[in-house]
Amino acid sequence: MAIATINPATGEKLREFAALSDAEIDEKIARAAEAFESHRRASFAERAAKMSRAAEILEAEKGEFARVMTTEMGKPITSAREEAAKCAWVCRYYAENAEKFLADEEVETTATRSFVRYQPLGVVLAVMPWNFPFWQVFRFAAPALMAGNVGLLKHASNVPQCALAIEDILRRAGFVNGEFQTLLVESKQVARVLEDKRVAAATLTGSEPAGASVASLAGKLIKKTVLELGGSDPFVVMPSANLGEAAKTALKARTINNGQSCIAAKRFVVHEKIYDEFARRLKDGMAALKVGDPMEEGTEIGPLATEQIVKDLEQQVGKTVAAGAREFRSPARLPSRGFYFAPAVLEDIPENSPGYCEEFFGPVALMFRVSSVDEAIRVANATAFGLGASAWTNRPEERERFASEIEAGAVFVNAMVASDPRLPFGGIKRSGYGRELSAFGIREFVNVKTVYVRGDEASHKTETE
Ligand code: NAP
Repeated sequence: MAIATINPATGEKLREFAALSDAEIDEKIARAAEAFESHRRASFAERAAKMSRAAEILEAEKGEFARVMTTEMGKPITSAREEAAKCAWVCRYYAENAEKFLADEEVETTATRSFVRYQPLGVVLAVMPWNFPFWQVFRFAAPALMAGNVGLLKHASNVPQCALAIEDILRRAGFVNGEFQTLLVESKQVARVLEDKRVAAATLTGSEPAGASVASLAGKLIKKTVLELGGSDPFVVMPSANLGEAAKTALKARTINNGQSCIAAKRFVVHEKIYDEFARRLKDGMAALKVGDPMEEGTEIGPLATEQIVKDLEQQVGKTVAAGAREFRSPARLPSRGFYFAPAVLEDIPENSPGYCEEFFGPVALMFRVSSVDEAIRVANATAFGLGASAWTNRPEERERFASEIEAGAVFVNAMVASDPRLPFGGIKRSGYGRELSAFGIREFVNVKTVYVRGDEASHKTETE
């Protein structure tokens, strides 16, 4: 895929970038390895001062960063500004908490002293997707840099200006020696970077094939990986739920980011007692959404990020309908150019169709009617993915069952699934492994070192001082 900015609202190519040569990649890796030697020794206070400065830049210039995001991938400008602000939050969160998360942990044994020490691994490669082009990167970069690692970013080929803007923010914040660099490379060049001995580990957020490709190579090289892959999150609604709130949240949870979020609610598993009313409200909501130019303040749904995504989604909908599903399409008038897609709701979805088992990465709600809590859990779990789940009920015993029995990295009760720097984020099954955010996230790319010391405490202290 060419590394280029193509405005999805118009289809126009605005800029194209040449991929780095092998020699240029080598140079950047060498710089990263050198940067690690000093960055690993910097104090938490020094790293935190830079990370806090990054937060200030993100907040001060969020309007400009939002325009870059919207131009490259089409999210509504209001969400793009919120994304920049959320990045500032994660930078501050790790600036304030990294030292606490990575402090030595004493463990009582028969030794004079035994403890766990967390130390950075080195150069970490981050392969990132376009859908939250700032947030995905900062939620990796903030903990990685605060832990003393250095980062190399291979961003998605359709968001090169976001990638360069992020490198620039971190450089201006004080990470000036190559602690964080963007590599403008194609996906086929990722192997070369990962194979380099100076690269210690990798994290990938994206599709299953990309994750499998990077993880299998990393496995061969015995390098640590974290994978954040796709999802087909269930949104379960039981009769005791507040129907109005559930339906309103369902609409937002399905259409946020133009429907292109890994943790968007994708499958709506609704009890038969309230199914028809819920479906009516969801369709009315879909029909009323303002679809159009993402740069306009009131726009709720902009274009999908690429022409290919529109084609893929139309094909998934077409095959599901051909297999027997019923389709509702929003009557919204779509702009005459650009990669637009009218929001849709599919019902009566047969088990052998894409709507039953695939991830739909766009504003299409997949509906399932169930008659009991057991069936709701069975349908919620009838997916290869296990990222998030939202369950709506006011009965305590149902809450407990959904929390325990839904197979996912997160279950939100009476709320929409969302990432939060304070809470671990990640999946199970084919949604990947490892966790980002919270204390769990910062401990993914560290050596959890056991230190066991015998000898009297006084002499130990003298030796180490
Ligand atoms: P993608 O095609 O997998 O791309 C993601 C990144 O991987 C891009 O930088 C891409 O580079 C690179 N890549 C693709 N194939 C590769 C390969 N064989 N080897 C190395 N790198 C490769 O995914 P996408 O279409 O951009 O994103 C949508 C998917 O990401 C959805 O499934 C979504 O659910 C998932 N996602 C998951 C999370 C999460 O946190 N779990 C968050 C966001 C998105 P190029 O652009 O150059 O191809």
